[in-house]
Amino acid sequence: MRSVEEHQRVVAALITRREPVDVPTGDALGLVLASDVVAPLSLPGFDNSAMDGYAVIAEDVAAAADDNPVKLPVAEDIPAGRTDLLVLEAGTAHRIMTGAPLPAGATAVVPVEATDGAVDTVSIRAAARSGQHVRRAGEDVTAGTTVLHAGQVLTPAALGLAAALGLATLNVVPRQRVLVMSTGSELVSPGTPLLPGQIYESNAVMLAAAVRDAGADVTTSSMTEDDVDAFRAALRTHASDADLIITTGGVSAGAYEVVKDSLGEEVEFVKVAMQPGMPQGAGVVSGTPIVTLPGNPVSALVSFEVFLRGPLRAAMGQPHPHRPRVTATLLEDLTSPRGKRQFRRGVLDRATATVTSYGPPASHHLRWLASADCLLEIGEDVTALAAGSPVRVWDLG
Ligand code: AMP
Ligand code: MG
Repeated sequence: MRSVEEHQRVVAALITRREPVDVPTGDALGLVLASDVVAPLSLPGFDNSAMDGYAVIAEDVAAAADDNPVKLPVAEDIPAGRTDLLVLEAGTAHRIMTGAPLPAGATAVVPVEATDGAVDTVSIRAAARSGQHVRRAGEDVTAGTTVLHAGQVLTPAALGLAAALGLATLNVVPRQRVLVMSTGSELVSPGTPLLPGQIYESNAVMLAAAVRDAGADVTTSSMTEDDVDAFRAALRTHASDADLIITTGGVSAGAYEVVKDSLGEEVEFVKVAMQPGMPQGAGVVSGTPIVTLPGNPVSALVSFEVFLRGPLRAAMGQPHPHRPRVTATLLEDLTSPRGKRQFRRGVLDRATATVTSYGPPASHHLRWLASADCLLEIGEDVTALAAGSPVRVWDLG
């Protein structure tokens, strides 16, 4: 049997980073920058007012006080967005709004609260220090500065900065494009009545969501019956625009194993020493990497976590591609099969770093996985763990 680590290496080696692309800034949230961003302009781009008030020459209002208001004629009104260049003459004021360009010659802004707010002759009740309430050009960013770095994950604030710099696109590591295919003649789409022996398809829905949750795109999420021709036809139809194909089902030891029967040439089918998720496969079909996961829903999602999520995120440049792993104290006794790495579903109390398993170990108990928030990783050589033991936990957030 292949070890978990070895199969992780095999799968990781299949998944490769795409060439950087330019995407609209507004679509880049969560993606990773492929190139540094050098500011093409300064921020602020021009001296402007930090307050609603009056642009003045500080000396003109030096004597202003509550009991000695200084009166100045208001020569201009400058709302934000005014684009003509104004000059403030000595002995006058311009009414000015936050973000509006400071007229040449002005050295300070008196907030409207320290005035009577008049539009013809303003009465100013407070002195202003030179530079008061003025935002200087380049104070935040000087043109030519590297403001965002390759490898950085684009947050809302980073996108805001890029937009403020006038950048309509950003050069990023593109999302991986993933084709998700489930197999099984018993499968029916939710919304359709079930015949005896049929079940609702859940793996494709679940794995497509897991792919998106990892930050990748799903090109198609398809379902085919256990028929080699139908499966190969679906592959031909959908594989060409994918960077990775993930299948579920049809890889174990029975008959009608459609994935195994279809891909014996291209995929190496192996047993991995883990529970759940023993039957696995990986290879390349017509140039596209393919990872074949087992069909039991818990096995499928645990396999995605163990083999695919990290490499997919790494191929998108994510600086922390793997789930956080912590050591927690087990609150109950557990048993585990010898010779297999067991991944039990669990509930983690992060405050006390304690953990309990959640639900039975068998791989069809999807209900428990649906409300678990961690995986307990129990080593191959461990057959029993007593309450109070330390245990390795994958925090699923
Ligand atoms: P298989 O690996 O194809 O033998 O499937 C193992 C078990 O998982 C069987 O009980 C299947 O019915 C079930 N199964 C396989 N694929 C799916 C799926 N896409 N959705 C729900 N259950 C599935
Ligand atoms: Mg099947």
